[in-house]
Amino acid sequence: MYKIVLCLFTVLLVQTGTAQNAATNSKFTAFEQQFIDDLWRNNPGWASSVGYHNYDEQLTIPGAETNDRLVKFAAATLQTLASFKESELSSSQRTDYYLIKNYAEATTFYIKEFKEEEWNPSVFNVGGAIFDVLDNKAKPLDQRLQALTKKLSLVPEYFLMASKLVVDPTLEHTELAIEQNKGSLYLFDTVLPDSLKAANLSQRDKQDFMNATKAARQAVEEYIKWLEARPILEKKEGRSARIGKELYQKKFAYDINARYTADEMYAKAQERVKYLQQQMAAVTKTLWPTYFPGTPLPSDNREATRQMIDKLSERHCKPDDFIATIEKQLPALHDFIEKKRLIDLDDSQPLKVRKTPEYMAGVAGASINSPGPYEKNGVTYYNVTPLTGYSPAEAESYLREYNDFVLQILNIHEAIPGHYTQHIYANRSPSIIQNILGNGAMVEGWACYVERMMMEEGYNDTPEMWLFYYKWNLREACNFILDYNIHCNNWTEKDALDLLVTTAFQQEKEAQEKYRRVTLTQVQLTSYFTGLTEIYELRDEVKKQQGDKFSLKAFHEQFLSYGSAPVKDIRSMMLGQ
Ligand code: ZN
Ligand code: ZN
Repeated sequence: MYKIVLCLFTVLLVQTGTAQNAATNSKFTAFEQQFIDDLWRNNPGWASSVGYHNYDEQLTIPGAETNDRLVKFAAATLQTLASFKESELSSSQRTDYYLIKNYAEATTFYIKEFKEEEWNPSVFNVGGAIFDVLDNKAKPLDQRLQALTKKLSLVPEYFLMASKLVVDPTLEHTELAIEQNKGSLYLFDTVLPDSLKAANLSQRDKQDFMNATKAARQAVEEYIKWLEARPILEKKEGRSARIGKELYQKKFAYDINARYTADEMYAKAQERVKYLQQQMAAVTKTLWPTYFPGTPLPSDNREATRQMIDKLSERHCKPDDFIATIEKQLPALHDFIEKKRLIDLDDSQPLKVRKTPEYMAGVAGASINSPGPYEKNGVTYYNVTPLTGYSPAEAESYLREYNDFVLQILNIHEAIPGHYTQHIYANRSPSIIQNILGNGAMVEGWACYVERMMMEEGYNDTPEMWLFYYKWNLREACNFILDYNIHCNNWTEKDALDLLVTTAFQQEKEAQEKYRRVTLTQVQLTSYFTGLTEIYELRDEVKKQQGDKFSLKAFHEQFLSYGSAPVKDIRSMMLGQ
């Protein structure tokens, strides 16, 4: 150990004084390549999900052995990183350096302190792992199925370990685990048998595949039964889904990776809520005579705003048309962006609106599934959960929330120029690290930033649309406030619904789903407001620096050129600091 340290010391001494050292640069590039190879070897499921298919046949068996291996890998990575002098790296390498360091430290934190395997049984689910192998169109179907035979044969051991690791599950995560694992059964019943029919496997391989499928399905079912027998489902008491302030602040620092602490951002979110409430009251005042002729404006601002939102929320599509309505709106966004020259759109990358796959159901209403950095020309899916499972009253409540105005903002956020566009740029970034260790607050922040940017540039520039933009932005700030208070301040369900319905003007159904989500996740709901705030602040700084030379299009394209790096790192690269 001492020898290594001494050795490095000598190297550093020799190189003092040189900024951006070419030898260090190429040494770091070699390290990065090795790191990525090791990362995939240690995380085969993650590898398949980003389109790196060398480890498709493997399935990581959870438990102490795996955790030890990951912690050791993290420690070795940190040790190697310490041998590089940051000032000698190029600015892009320096971002990679921080991302890798963050990954290694976060891995250790998650395994040693966060210990999610003990209380969140929904981390155990093989639906995504199977789907990611099957979905790889670059490999012939026969080979994919042969890899799956090996993977599926590990599923019984996987769930056996899972049921040993889950020692203290929360009620919320147990219910989610049951729902999602039931959701993946359709893969065994429909998707895998259909794939087998389409393949040309030998009789022997076919039999192996069917045997492995059958045993894997049985293991999933047994895990579901085991979960259904957990005492917490009966007694409704046991471990809380709240993680508490100490873990929360750490998780915020690792996951969000912002210039601000959780507490600082919380204060900004509260400020923003006040501002938005004033804006909404002002817009309501101008719209009032048009929609309520002859009725006096209520003296209470909040009540007036609520009535105006209620009135305008009547404009919404029919439940059966939900997915089709979303699909139909996309061309208008595309044309607006081209006409205003806001950012270059890559029309060669397909976007396909589809019904959310069952194994993913249960958390979000709409999401984007993009091809990873290794499958650059794959299809991006815009997943929309259809309203078929809803009662007529629930569907009405949901659609009033996602009315004709809000649906346009949702499309900007999820698709153009939000997540879909950002992913296209991220896949072009030369740094694969900045893609695979991408920062969630940057990704969500961009999608929230373009909502406001499109409005400012005049997309459907009407007071009605602004009212709903403010409402949406209010929701982003309230997501932060909700998440923080649920996990750090013991807020009850009533406190939560009060914030969402009274302060954020949300429909009951939407509020209940958000409450469910905040109990199932931690910190993720703060990524929207934090990322948006940081990007907006950065744009102001760049504007100031560039003066007359500032171009919105150039800003957008440069901002997206660094992959999904944390906004604070993009900031130092863009400002040259
Ligand atoms: Zn209606
Ligand atoms: Zn998003």
